Amino acid sequence: MPYKDEYADKTSHFDIVNNPEILKFIEECSFIIEPSEEEGKKMSELFIDVPQNNDTLPEKIIAIDGSYYEASVQSRIPSTKVGYVKIGSLLIDRRQYRDLRVLNNRFVDPFRVAKMQDNNSPITFPFPSSNIVLKGKKNVRDSFRYAMDKHLLEHRTIKDRPDSSLRTTLFHLASLRTGELGTNDSSKLKIHKCPSCEQEQIELYDIPEEQYCPNCKSPVYPSDCLRIWEEVTDYQSNSVALSRFMNVIEHIIPVHYIRIVREYYAESFANILSNLAFFIDGPLAIFGTAAWIHASILRYLNRINCDMKKYRKNSILLIGLQKAGHVVEYFNLIENYIGNNKIFSITDDYRYKYITPNNEPSNNGFGYETYYGQDFLLKTESGRVFVFALPYPFSSKADQDTKCFSTEKTKYSNYDCLGKAVQLIKDFECDLYENAVVPIALAHKYTAISLEPGAKVLDLLSQTSIKR
Ligand SMILES: [Zn+2]
Repeated sequence: MPYKDEYADKTSHFDIVNNPEILKFIEECSFIIEPSEEEGKKMSELFIDVPQNNDTLPEKIIAIDGSYYEASVQSRIPSTKVGYVKIGSLLIDRRQYRDLRVLNNRFVDPFRVAKMQDNNSPITFPFPSSNIVLKGKKNVRDSFRYAMDKHLLEHRTIKDRPDSSLRTTLFHLASLRTGELGTNDSSKLKIHKCPSCEQEQIELYDIPEEQYCPNCKSPVYPSDCLRIWEEVTDYQSNSVALSRFMNVIEHIIPVHYIRIVREYYAESFANILSNLAFFIDGPLAIFGTAAWIHASILRYLNRINCDMKKYRKNSILLIGLQKAGHVVEYFNLIENYIGNNKIFSITDDYRYKYITPNNEPSNNGFGYETYYGQDFLLKTESGRVFVFALPYPFSSKADQDTKCFSTEKTKYSNYDCLGKAVQLIKDFECDLYENAVVPIALAHKYTAISLEPGAKVLDLLSQTSIKR
């Protein structure tokens, strides 16, 4: 996702404020405004001191950040496009990182940091887009579906193990769905309907061979369960579908690594995972037609955390860090009123009152259909501000009534990793990147170790387990 400054187009803002008709229109709108000093002080009272951390910080960090774009195939046929989703998943060793710091630890040396990209390369998923059809396919949508499934199937972390594919991870997540679409068996999943004839609930298997709809005999793909195909169009931009895919894959990748470690290093997984942290760009939420997967991710993480507990380890440290958006903009408005080393766990009431005042509060609580993590506002000891999220410490939102969930999710004491998360952010904050920590900024800038060389990630992780 872009950095803050990449959004700012100062010229267009200038045009707007000089246009009297638009000014008049804006006067009639209601939107978030800067709080008064009195309000600011009141808000600062809601913040608490950052909780102490007594745990050792993980030494390995994986930062994930994606981007996407659509490009014309040739300049003379501009509306014929291909799309790309590019995902960086960068592994940083904190020991190596410490050597990069210069000038009393306040800066990292940008040249030495840039060198870190040398061993890394991003994964790129190309897609057919507007007016492009793969050979043998009827339309853009079918071509897009085919390409997506192939990418997920072929991206394996361990080359000779088909079950180390991203698609197998998708099977694990889809099998955890509740209701009629869940299978409780990670070797099969259900798609809600056939994209060709709309036949409902088709069961598909985790096999490499092509599978067909029992009704119309058209090909159906396991990754159709993400329902991204519903947003693919034949003759227009497919940036919505590309951004949905990017969003989903950014969140599936940490689960994928966790699964691989859990399954392939069964004896030392708790040591490996407790020495590992993930940074993901953006809130812990999935939007659009694939939003259902947020609940499966939450359930999966909870299961692993229960396993971790048996080995007396804390929950897996998965941090969603927001560089832009409503919450970040809001925090920037009030940050001057907030003392250093303070944190606030955003409640639904607070969010609807101050951050998105024009949104009707949702009956089921904020983000019921999309979020799997709680947002926190943090001002560090050095005065930098961060908006970050940790996974909800529950297996499901539906297990408890809405009111109870809304209260429990904001309780600091429910997050055993909170102090650790804050210390890790502090460790990686730096003057080079505003609102970002170094790993995610690097994942963004240079992207990184691709999933296939993800084997490299595994090598490093397995080395850790031997050392401990
Ligand atoms: Zn069909």
